[in-house]
Amino acid sequence: MNDMYYGEQTVLFFDGQFVKAADAKTDLYSQSMHYGYAIFEGIRAYETESGEVAIFKADAHYQRLKDSADAVGIPLAYTVEELISISYEVLSRNGFKNAYLRPLLFCPPNMSLQKAKASHLMIAAWEWGAYLGEQLLRVMTSSFQRPNPKAFKVHAKVSGHYVNSIMACQEAKDHGYDEALLLDANGFVAEGPGANVFFEKDGQLFTPALGNILPGITRATIIELANDLGIPVVETDCKLEALKQADSAFFCGTAAEVIGWKSIDDYAFPTPWHQSLGFQLQKAYKELVLEKQSNTVQA
Ligand code: PMP
Repeated sequence: MNDMYYGEQTVLFFDGQFVKAADAKTDLYSQSMHYGYAIFEGIRAYETESGEVAIFKADAHYQRLKDSADAVGIPLAYTVEELISISYEVLSRNGFKNAYLRPLLFCPPNMSLQKAKASHLMIAAWEWGAYLGEQLLRVMTSSFQRPNPKAFKVHAKVSGHYVNSIMACQEAKDHGYDEALLLDANGFVAEGPGANVFFEKDGQLFTPALGNILPGITRATIIELANDLGIPVVETDCKLEALKQADSAFFCGTAAEVIGWKSIDDYAFPTPWHQSLGFQLQKAYKELVLEKQSNTVQA
């Protein structure tokens, strides 16, 4: 399993130094290990059309890391600019062009439930294919809801929140599906375990409004691209019944990029993926991240 993420020569950034991943060590008494009290990000770098490596929306990702850390009171000792330049160095030291970056901000030993006074930062990278694969997904409505925003800062990317994601994903796989869809605490469509959701009905796109979901950077990009292509997008409370009468649907996220759905529970989407708005946006997204000249939207 380790080999998938790092090898003997892999270098990561850890608290001010670039070190071999295989040699990096941490403390088992970390407050993050025991309570899930840590912050992370998921970011992709692409080899663009010009041959340069570009981290897609690096500013937005590191701003969200900062906002997430602030939301739960974990100190962050780096500026967004520093984090971006460290990230480029992690990529270049490993010779990566197309890669996934994983910053993790975690806490020192502390068994109390007081907020952290200090933190550690690691930024690792590995080459990672599309997280949910390239095939249309069979999605199951989860019996697990997303965390109630009155119980968690749901807009923050906190490690502990992902126990909910792991349970939902596992449940869907155990039932023979590819992925889960979670509803929010009010019963409206929320998001996947690690991706936001859009669906198409009569030429319009619908997506859950902010409030109960992680404000995805890919979601925001898809909305921009849709505006650019003249596709109307409605951000609103979405009923599961509406999704089950939709023409097509897709997940989007940094790791998953844009991936269409075949079905939700026993409802199969009638519009062939290649004729869907999601397909157009999948293509536009790919062009944008690769900085292909045909695209008019700025990264
Ligand atoms: N929702 C959840 C729960 C996620 O984990 C992710 C992945 N970060 C997303 C949505 C999509 O966010 P982004 O587009 O910023 O990767």
